[in-house]
Amino acid sequence: MPASDAARQLHARCPVVDLHAHPSLKVALWGSKFAERHRTGGAWNPFATRVDLPKLREGGVKALLSAVYLPERGLLDDCWLMKTASWLAPRRIKRFFDGDPFEVTLALFQEFEGEVARSLVNGQEVARVVKSVTELDAALAQGKIAILHSLEGAHSLGEDPARVRPLFDRGVCLLTLGHFYENAFVAPVDAIPPAQKLAGCFGRPKDLTKGLTPQGEQLVEQCVELGLLVDLTHCTPPARRRAIEIVNRRRPLVFSHVGVATMNPAPMNPTREEVRAVADSGGVIGIILMNFWLTTAELKQGLHLVVETARHLKDQGGIETVALGTDFDGFTDPPDDVKDMADLPNITDALLRGGFTETEIERILGGNALRALRQGWGRL
Ligand SMILES: [Zn+2]
Repeated sequence: MPASDAARQLHARCPVVDLHAHPSLKVALWGSKFAERHRTGGAWNPFATRVDLPKLREGGVKALLSAVYLPERGLLDDCWLMKTASWLAPRRIKRFFDGDPFEVTLALFQEFEGEVARSLVNGQEVARVVKSVTELDAALAQGKIAILHSLEGAHSLGEDPARVRPLFDRGVCLLTLGHFYENAFVAPVDAIPPAQKLAGCFGRPKDLTKGLTPQGEQLVEQCVELGLLVDLTHCTPPARRRAIEIVNRRRPLVFSHVGVATMNPAPMNPTREEVRAVADSGGVIGIILMNFWLTTAELKQGLHLVVETARHLKDQGGIETVALGTDFDGFTDPPDDVKDMADLPNITDALLRGGFTETEIERILGGNALRALRQGWGRL
């Protein structure tokens, strides 16, 4: 069902922010053009493209945290698909696994930045990469879509927590500590639905008793000092507990793309206590657009689950905690009723029908995320 006129008008007025999506991955993998409209494609389709400039404009997105993800080296022995791809192809894929992961990651930031800079519409700039809160506010005031760099997985730093400083200097606003595999800093929860495991990938078991390593503790401390938001998505519960202690409300904490444990008790999702801890830090939780994390039921439609998750987060942490983190283009399976950026007004429509007020919706769609960025990004 298309969004109502009232919902579309409200949506257009809101500062819509996505805390987590992966347009740079499609640029890195296939050389996709960010300025062109691509086919959205089905779930798991590796060529599906849900985040491009035309869809961001249609979806009314004002700011996007674009997560750079360097495919982890563990994928080469744990996923035959990646192994085969790296044999068959191409330099594009092989380059991820050669050399210093930090240097490769910096090259990915550079590559995407170049792609955004080339993405003009009728010769006009409509989106730009911003590297500070001042630049973010200037882009918003000028009506440009603000693209913010974030990094998914501290494996990109190799083993050296001090590398977070050059990342910060590069304009990165948020660091997701964990991802699929244990890295030098943190251990992860399982983040792979069984449907993907059946394809013979991601068989290695996860140890949920592991937490932050000593370097991981240093890394969290450095993020707090420098002003990079710490994202606890993918971290094990003991790692989350320790990171919450270290941050100790000095900066807003983030879960950028999750559900909530009271709806789906997967270890990926924050518990009631963790939602509270994020709220106490002034942080935000981005609702992921993937039913697998939002519910234990098998459903195709997901808007009602987004609304229900927002309600749980509001009850547990207050409306100030609720945000969106689509994870589009992260090889996810989005709900049929919100499958790419152009569909985001459907969320506004569903929230309105679900009884949220306009002020609450404005906060969920982006007001809260902007507040957390202004408090957490940059030096104190
Ligand atoms: Zn992720």
